[in-house]
Amino acid sequence: MHLAMKRLSSFLGGQWLAGSGAAVALTNPTTEAAIAEVCSTGYDLAAALDYGRRTGRAALRELSFAQRGELIATMAKAIHGAREELIALAVENGGNTRGDAKFDIDGAAATLSHYAELGAKLGNSTLLADGDAISVGRTARMAGQHVWVTRPGVAIHINAFNFPAWGLAEKAACALLAGMPVLSKPATATALVTHRLMEILAPLLPAGVLQLLCGSAATLLDFARPGDVIAFTGSSGTAKALRAHPNVIEHALRLNIEADSLNAAVLAPDVDLSSETGQLFLGDVTRDMTQKTGQKCTAIRRVMVPSERLDDVAAALCERLDAIVVGDPSRDDVRMGPVATANQFRDVRAGITRLAAATDSVRGGTGELAAPRGVDNGKGYFINPVLRSTRDAHNCAALHDHEVFGPVSTLAAYDGTATDAAALVARGEGGLVASAYSDDREWTTRFVVDAAAWNGRLFLGSAKMAAQSPGPGTVLPSLIHGGPGRAGGGEELGGSRGLAFYMQRCALEGDATVLKAIVGGAA
Ligand code: NAP
Repeated sequence: MHLAMKRLSSFLGGQWLAGSGAAVALTNPTTEAAIAEVCSTGYDLAAALDYGRRTGRAALRELSFAQRGELIATMAKAIHGAREELIALAVENGGNTRGDAKFDIDGAAATLSHYAELGAKLGNSTLLADGDAISVGRTARMAGQHVWVTRPGVAIHINAFNFPAWGLAEKAACALLAGMPVLSKPATATALVTHRLMEILAPLLPAGVLQLLCGSAATLLDFARPGDVIAFTGSSGTAKALRAHPNVIEHALRLNIEADSLNAAVLAPDVDLSSETGQLFLGDVTRDMTQKTGQKCTAIRRVMVPSERLDDVAAALCERLDAIVVGDPSRDDVRMGPVATANQFRDVRAGITRLAAATDSVRGGTGELAAPRGVDNGKGYFINPVLRSTRDAHNCAALHDHEVFGPVSTLAAYDGTATDAAALVARGEGGLVASAYSDDREWTTRFVVDAAAWNGRLFLGSAKMAAQSPGPGTVLPSLIHGGPGRAGGGEELGGSRGLAFYMQRCALEGDATVLKAIVGGAA
């Protein structure tokens, strides 16, 4: 019997609609079998955005921060309730191990819960005071007060393939709490999880508050209007095209970009590898190389090590990487699955070849893997974890300028000073996160002073925090996520800071008692 291929529809204008045109297949990266398809032409995207602006905005406008928080809490609970089903889809469509899938799906629920709690704290208001009232006249009667108000349009969210659940949730949490309706577009290749998520969430939300576009968004920004905002996560190539979009330029549309990042980890000279801090460092590098098969925007790509310690670190990391079983991610004895798509496989192998021309091999050659566990011969997009090294880090452009989005890292020798380490970190031209491992406070302070301006977040690993550390690769909703330069120049999350993108700051000028009444309910 021939079973029809599952076709992913889009939830637009309050209905599930099937697209038309050529079908794009979604595959299982372990078996290479097609598991679903998406057709993305034939949608009236102008009408969908307009539906969000009118119907979705009207629903949210009626709700206070606390009530929006309740809605977001409902979303978090629903995702948690569907956890097992979503994990199974992530294993099938994303090549995720169960642990990888939990990272995405539990991360989605936790981020929504964080913003639900923030909503409760912000209370019954619909606008936020920014600081206190100030006197701007001869007497206290004439006052000024900054406020944040919801922007009038729709929030267009475009996400990368690696976090199909968290990507939708972390952006939607901020936008919805701020009061903006959302149209979310997952990466096509791994849209199965997001599509199911939307099927679960759609019945729980007021009309127009959350829409989903499955398939290409090539023409979506043609219909963006003043008041809309766009939050994008993906490659710097696509980011460049969005920045240059005529509508973005014409209407000065707000555009937040989370793009490539060559995140660095630095081992300080005071740390012995057998110490708690040394073990934290080795564990974090190994986890970041292999969790989600290295397809994390925050994963460590460059590892700075004092030159006389390079061989010891290489040996210790090889021992840990050798213990990672690569293969069918649905098996309990497998720790790392394939990369998500055939394109990813090609890109990662090409990136390793580029690195190989400029660095020495430590482990994994150029990524060939003879026999992934539990996989039919020759099938699947599997890559052996690759560790490379260079003793000439300042002159190794390939190390600093090309993100290989897979299980690949390079050890780079530095002279042991925090200033030299920070100078190498800066060669990445802007990153999401850099980590430094040291129990020497003076060294750490110097590193922070020199490196912070190049990074959205600095993770400071030490013996005192090791037992509680989530590692640098985990994005926490309470801390900002984003980074300058190559990382896109964007900023998401960070508790209430994450709302700012979706709100307009407006300075009110007038009678002090009027201003006080206006912000009376504001937190
Ligand atoms: P990508 O190819 O740039 O795609 C990202 C998203 O943009 C997808 O949803 C894609 O849709 C969409 N897109 C492509 N062309 C478009 C256009 N002309 N107009 C509107 N949308 C368009 O990136 P990816 O391969 O999915 O993700 C990998 C990259 O994302 C890596 O470089 C990684 O560093 C980066 N990343 C960054 C972060 C972060 O937080 N900073 C997080 C995760 C990933 P289709 O799938 O339909 O083509």
